[in-house]
Amino acid sequence: MTIEELYDLFLQHPGISTDSRVCPKDSIFFALKGERFNGNLFATAALKKGCSYAVVDEWEDDAHDDHVIVVDNVLACLQKLANYHRRKLKTPIIGITGTNGKTTTKELIATTLSREFKVAYTQGNLNNHIGVPLTLLSMNASHEIGIVEMGANHPGEIKELCEIVEPDFGLITNVGKAHLEGFGSFENVIKTKGELYDFIRNHDGKVFVNKDNAYLLEMSDGMNRILYGKNDPSLFASGAMNQANPFLEFNWNFFDQSYLVKTKLVGEYNLDNALAAVAVGKFFGINTELISEALQEYEPKNNRSQFERTERNDLIVDAYNANPTSMRVSLDFFNGIPSSLPKAVILGEMKELGESSEKEHSDLMDLIDNPSLDKIYLVGEVFNRYKNDGKDPHIYGFFNTVEELMEELQNRPLTGHYILLKGSHSVHLEKVIPYL
Ligand code: ATP
Ligand code: MG
Repeated sequence: MTIEELYDLFLQHPGISTDSRVCPKDSIFFALKGERFNGNLFATAALKKGCSYAVVDEWEDDAHDDHVIVVDNVLACLQKLANYHRRKLKTPIIGITGTNGKTTTKELIATTLSREFKVAYTQGNLNNHIGVPLTLLSMNASHEIGIVEMGANHPGEIKELCEIVEPDFGLITNVGKAHLEGFGSFENVIKTKGELYDFIRNHDGKVFVNKDNAYLLEMSDGMNRILYGKNDPSLFASGAMNQANPFLEFNWNFFDQSYLVKTKLVGEYNLDNALAAVAVGKFFGINTELISEALQEYEPKNNRSQFERTERNDLIVDAYNANPTSMRVSLDFFNGIPSSLPKAVILGEMKELGESSEKEHSDLMDLIDNPSLDKIYLVGEVFNRYKNDGKDPHIYGFFNTVEELMEELQNRPLTGHYILLKGSHSVHLEKVIPYL
């Protein structure tokens, strides 16, 4: 089947399913192979369940079925179809990548642009080689702007995603230390994120650049760019923090008007994410009041820097993910919050750091060696090597797993504290919340 023929089928059956349990009417099932499942084995079930067609790459030669489309590689086919669709639609697309804050920035931009446009955007965190094509295929002719989050954990990945998305606009939130295992080095992180700029440069697109980030400023030199940043009214979009206690409040300016935005976002590092949305919103001509309103109303989801008050403690739950850069900004922000309560941190191991893991965790130990912390709970085997460093047992607690910490908190509850929880997703620090 040619791509044109497949595209015709897609236009008549625009639902896409990659999970045989979810087969909406008029959908095509793509039999993807994952680590645990081989989608080909579920194609028949998907057809029975209601999918109109199934695209497979492993199929018995004699098992004829007019509704089964056999291709060389289902994933490549999905990506090709997504790109073909994107080209047909011609909707302007903003591609977003960066080390930290991609999802938050994407959501803030989406909520801002949605005030005046019909916007299609990445759902949740579906930002990889599968999620990106699915996002494109969720777009239709009624959408006026598309926003696609693109994630990477190895070099070349953003280039590949750009070739599928063909973004007209690009935004790199920042470059920092994460996934060093896959990237090999921080230089490779910068290079990989820069693949978005490379694509845009070669296709005469435009980038939104945070002027406060020296790497991004240099990488985008000479490009068609719009600058945003802090405390510099000469920029296209500029803002200044008012306070972050713990919610971020900031002012942004438009000619001689100043807008105070009281967000529901925790942490001053979210100022960069919010200013990105101001810049994109202004560029697309969103009314200034509506920009402020959108940023004011947005609520973060999924333990991404959320504030919670329990009966016993105040919590900042930042357990969605962690890497050396976001760990540092989170701790800096937490240290800076004025509070009469004694402070405690519950930190989970930072995963996927490869060879730099030891150094990064040792730097973290230095960072938290801070008299303002009353209690420090460390979760993950990587911390064991610091156990015998003469750490005060009244302050430091070491736990291999979050379950061990839950048991400790059950036996020795922590009360009356202001607590930061931050760690890699797979540590599951959110499980201790009921014990706090
Ligand atoms: P992922 O790689 O998992 O897709 P992401 O880049 O989409 O992550 P978010 O989900 O928006 O990032 O935020 C995750 C965490 O990153 C936040 O809870 C916060 O701790 C941190 N973070 C968010 N924005 C920034 C920023 N601008 N600078 C540094 N850290 C940030
Ligand atoms: Mg994300």
